[in-house]
Amino acid sequence: MAMENRFLRLAAEGIRGLSPYVPGKPIDELEREYGIRNSIKLASNENPLGPPQSAIRAITAAQSELSLYPDGGGFHLKQALASKLGIEPGCITLGNGSNDVLVLLAETFLTADSEAVVSQYAFVVYQLAVQAVGATCKVAAVYPAGHAKAYGHDLDAMRALVSEKTRIIFIANPNNPTGTWLASTELEQFIDSVSEDVIIVIDEAYNEYVEEPDYPDAVEWVNRFPNLVVTRTFSKIYGLAGLRVGYSVSHQDIAALLNRVRQPFNVNSLAQVAAIAALDDPDHVASSRTVNANGLRLLAQGMEDLGFTVIPSVGNFLLVDMGRDAAPYYEALLRAGVIVRPVANYGLPHHLRITVGTNDQNKRLMAALTSIVESD
Ligand SMILES: *Cc1c(COP(=O)(O)O)cnc(C)c1O
Repeated sequence: MAMENRFLRLAAEGIRGLSPYVPGKPIDELEREYGIRNSIKLASNENPLGPPQSAIRAITAAQSELSLYPDGGGFHLKQALASKLGIEPGCITLGNGSNDVLVLLAETFLTADSEAVVSQYAFVVYQLAVQAVGATCKVAAVYPAGHAKAYGHDLDAMRALVSEKTRIIFIANPNNPTGTWLASTELEQFIDSVSEDVIIVIDEAYNEYVEEPDYPDAVEWVNRFPNLVVTRTFSKIYGLAGLRVGYSVSHQDIAALLNRVRQPFNVNSLAQVAAIAALDDPDHVASSRTVNANGLRLLAQGMEDLGFTVIPSVGNFLLVDMGRDAAPYYEALLRAGVIVRPVANYGLPHHLRITVGTNDQNKRLMAALTSIVESD
């Protein structure tokens, strides 16, 4: 049995009940552990095409400035985002990944006696951020199995948990790890129905991948709903997860409060120049979307052919119901050099989350899984 941490009783109350985030296994750790080579990682929803060449060139050019602090205000990146999104730079808050912005929101608006509302199976970082500041997280049940949007956020159930203590509602659209999403009308009506004294955070980390016609662009609503905060990231389709850069778009007054809490140099200089270059590279985004759309179809079909159930996803990953404990499948795939993501920590022990790879990677995954099923 693990010994209790000897400083636990000194830690802040919210920290005592926390379990750390469990990331996808890094490739070299897996290869060391299993003594294998040439493995592939389909575990963290990274872009299998990598970063755009333009971002690599921008980083190379910026090397000579590494001894200088970055621009703490992120002037050029905010300008680039503002002109791309048609908003004022003052509405933007940059973060060390959008994870940083989610934590800033919790630190800014939550206290030990306030509450946040999330959905069951929502991205786990929301709960971690809420608990870390000692606030209470209310978790709304998702639509049940059999429902057209099974596993997806049930906005009525979320609204029912809002009380006078609620300060933040976190909504992932689409959600990770489920891949489920909310359509424009239902989400807009929900925002409209909630008091302006509750901050509504819409996390659009996968927004660029979604092809559904009635998927909303929540940034367009920020001028109408002053309590709305939309978060986005360069970690997913832009292929820059290793650099850590994301942002939120909100009312300027919310951005100004987040800016009080933010570390002065939270986004490093290489991340800033790479993000600017990536924003200006629509071809890389377009080819990433195409590779993903094809891969999603191939994997969904392949999984169904093997008898597994797939939750319809609009992201760059797929949640697959293995029909029984998913851990043996996870282990067998690891031995075959394919890293996927178990999601038992989400209360989904029968599921695996699989990131869409390149065509070759997807085929390798399906071949490995097919032989695992056949030798079962
Ligand atoms: C990956 C992810 C993020 C962002 O991660 P960062 O790398 O910190 O920008 C945010 N929300 C969801 C739902 C994600 O899956």
